[in-house]
Amino acid sequence: MITLSELKDILADEDPQAIEDLAVKAKTITSRFFGRTISLYAPIYLSNYCDNGCLYCGFRHGLRIKRKKLTFDEMAGEMARVSGAGIQNILLLTGGSRKQTPPSYIKKAVEVAGEYFPSISLEVYPMTEDEYRQLYRSGVDGVTVYQETYNRKRYSYLHPTGKKSDYEYRYLTPERIAKSGIRNISMGALLGLWDVAEDIHELFKHLSCMERNYPGVEYSLSFPRILSVPGTKFKSINVSDLTLIKLMCLARILFPRVGINLSTREGEKLRDHALGIGVTRISAASRTSVGGYTGTGENDTQFDVRDRRSVREVVSILKAKNFDPVFTDWRRIKNGP
Ligand code: SF4
Repeated sequence: MITLSELKDILADEDPQAIEDLAVKAKTITSRFFGRTISLYAPIYLSNYCDNGCLYCGFRHGLRIKRKKLTFDEMAGEMARVSGAGIQNILLLTGGSRKQTPPSYIKKAVEVAGEYFPSISLEVYPMTEDEYRQLYRSGVDGVTVYQETYNRKRYSYLHPTGKKSDYEYRYLTPERIAKSGIRNISMGALLGLWDVAEDIHELFKHLSCMERNYPGVEYSLSFPRILSVPGTKFKSINVSDLTLIKLMCLARILFPRVGINLSTREGEKLRDHALGIGVTRISAASRTSVGGYTGTGENDTQFDVRDRRSVREVVSILKAKNFDPVFTDWRRIKNGP
């Protein structure tokens, strides 16, 4: 495992040759393990109700924004729109409110999604192992959970209220997911909350520990940057494009088989550049407001989408760059015993 000081040195190194060497190494490993395939997915926001007080988020409890939770008919409308654009891999998101969006609501949403998508992932509040098992049996393949920051003091400051203030419970969430049978876990840190080298070093340690203890799970990493958050005065720490690219290269070199996700938080130029380096999964044509695909809700977004290209445009660009866009690489059979 890389040491923290080695990681800091790599991030500080501005020698163009060293950067080029890092990128070439990452590219070679990516093409050995993933060929030219890039998977596509899209997020659907089901609700923006939240009981937590994350200082950096436009959905946090107490902010005066329009709150909305999709009805099951509305979510079917959103799903029909997204699957009609060709997407087969869906990420369902909610804010962190167990009261407004209890596990039973999420389970029903998964059942609705099963009518439209062969692959369903969740990014919702952390749950118990048994709740994850129920969702796995309903058809959930993957769960995304970011620690946000691994620095405990900074974490406490940024998460002053709500269940999310429990660092330990969140840290142990990937373990509960793995024990439930869910086959894909996406981990990450929110870049811009704390010293990037320290957070990424802890993320790599966390992932290594998961790989050792739960080797049957497929892991992926995300490196979301806070660029701007509507409705908050939160000041993020700047993380440059070059730093982000270096982190993806390092992730690929240290974890050759791990998927790397890149969302539409990032702009076209950076996303296109990152494609050859190590990214294996990208979102396309995302809407980050509740009801954003059908216009059923006039409400705020969680973050600004910077790459606004349609699914068709993203596919054309991938093909022009000689990548194979993959909508689904597997067919769902009934999860569970
Ligand atoms: S980051 Fe998630 S849990 Fe925190 S305020 Fe935003 S929606 Fe709620």
